[in-house]
Amino acid sequence: MADTVVRIDNLVKRYKDLIALDHLSLEIKEGEVFGLLGPNGSGKTTTINCLLSLLAFDKGTVEIFGKEMTPTSYDIKREIGIIMQNVAVFDELTVYDNIDYFCGLYITDKEERRRCVEEAIKFVGLEDFTKFYPKKLSGGLLRRLNIACGIAHKPKLIILDEPTVAVDPQSRNKILEGIEELNRQGATVIYTSHYMEEVEQICTRIAIMDKGHKVAEGTKAELKKMIKNTETITVEIPEPSEEVSREISELPHVYKTEYKDDRLTVWCSGGKHNLIRVLGVLQDHDMHIGRVYSELPTLNDVFLEITGKALRDKED
Ligand code: ADP
Ligand code: MG
Repeated sequence: MADTVVRIDNLVKRYKDLIALDHLSLEIKEGEVFGLLGPNGSGKTTTINCLLSLLAFDKGTVEIFGKEMTPTSYDIKREIGIIMQNVAVFDELTVYDNIDYFCGLYITDKEERRRCVEEAIKFVGLEDFTKFYPKKLSGGLLRRLNIACGIAHKPKLIILDEPTVAVDPQSRNKILEGIEELNRQGATVIYTSHYMEEVEQICTRIAIMDKGHKVAEGTKAELKKMIKNTETITVEIPEPSEEVSREISELPHVYKTEYKDDRLTVWCSGGKHNLIRVLGVLQDHDMHIGRVYSELPTLNDVFLEITGKALRDKED
């Protein structure tokens, strides 16, 4: 049984009248890439700030590496790498000197520090930019610098708060691959995001948050088993008649249908051959069938079924 790295018990955080965290409990084990998934405002950053004792909370306890976390727990803090949502680097220092500065807060031996800084630079792929000042970096490169500053001292626990927001696809892939590599090298990771695809891709266990509550928790397979949706079928067809719509909604395992933007969507719960049956009905009525796809449930479906709303807006 792996050791518990972080234990949050019944955490309550209020901002005046707003309850930002409502009796939140989490347990994160050594070796996990633990995902905190939730829409903007669900309490992810507040959770991170409370767990690091950067923010005072109203109730509850936080333990890291088996010890109570307090604002002065420097021995715990040196084993943690923090990558905040808002990039925090010094504009007047170069890429190299920024990483060196943050690494120097933990590692005093010059030679060891040089090795760590160089490894971190390689790790995030900033070799060609070491002499650049942050203002000259693109958003993606700046994020990568922010990450290098947080991981250069080789922490055992790495916490990243939405590290891929507003980042180009190349940097985003580099960041996600980097996190997986750090985990392979032994780090436990806490990763917050409102992008369900990323969380699905890299997290071994996930807590879904909404309005300061943990609404579900598990591996992605476990989360998907909690909901009734097993398959969503989409067919591009001209508007179906009432008869066709009725026949499809009466097929076995179909629990919801919708026609919108020239597409029929059919939600199924269990069973086999759902796609064949849907297409069978359309063929019986000689309908012209365009593109067809069948999708397995996503974490968005999990969020939708549990909370009744989409995890994020389409345009986000
Ligand atoms: P997330 O990181 O998931 O987007 P946050 O933890 O930032 O969510 O915010 C949770 C809730 O607390 C939101 O409703 C937000 O508006 C509120 N909140 C966050 N920080 C403050 C603050 N300093 N003062 C008042 N309300 C805040
Ligand atoms: Mg946040």
